[in-house]
Amino acid sequence: MSSVICGECGSPCVLADSTVVYRGRSRGKIWICSRYPSCDSYVGVHSNSRRHAPKGVPAGPYTRRARGELHRFFDWLWKEGIIDELMPGTKRGNRRRKAYLWLSRVLGIPEGDCHISYWHGDRCYEVLEIITKKLEESGHIRKRSRPYARKNTGRRTDGD
Ligand SMILES: [Zn+2]
Repeated sequence: MSSVICGECGSPCVLADSTVVYRGRSRGKIWICSRYPSCDSYVGVHSNSRRHAPKGVPAGPYTRRARGELHRFFDWLWKEGIIDELMPGTKRGNRRRKAYLWLSRVLGIPEGDCHISYWHGDRCYEVLEIITKKLEESGHIRKRSRPYARKNTGRRTDGD
């Protein structure tokens, strides 16, 4: 039995090739719920990990979508250099690490606990609201213009 546990139903997960979920196209290995497809839950694997370390907690469609939306917002912060304006003068590794440090401070949690891929969908949408408000206050996002923080519409999508 594996030590990777499904975040949806608590069942053990198994290592599989992602062709199982991506209609024949492989994007590397995944940890997938042993109850798949009745439990549609999985997570990617760190490609450089010899022991196939999971990238987070295996999750269903709602949480995968929410993590994806939060990540688009978060990545925008550091890829576009906005994080440098949010944390002027902070000499702290690269922009991505700086963005995680910023997020952990905004949320008031330890930096080591700040991992989007470990959060449930509801938590992701809550965090999206918090950082959207922050960026509205700082003037980086116009009010009611939330290109990266679309609410879940309940539509089903094909995973991430
Ligand atoms: Zn499951």
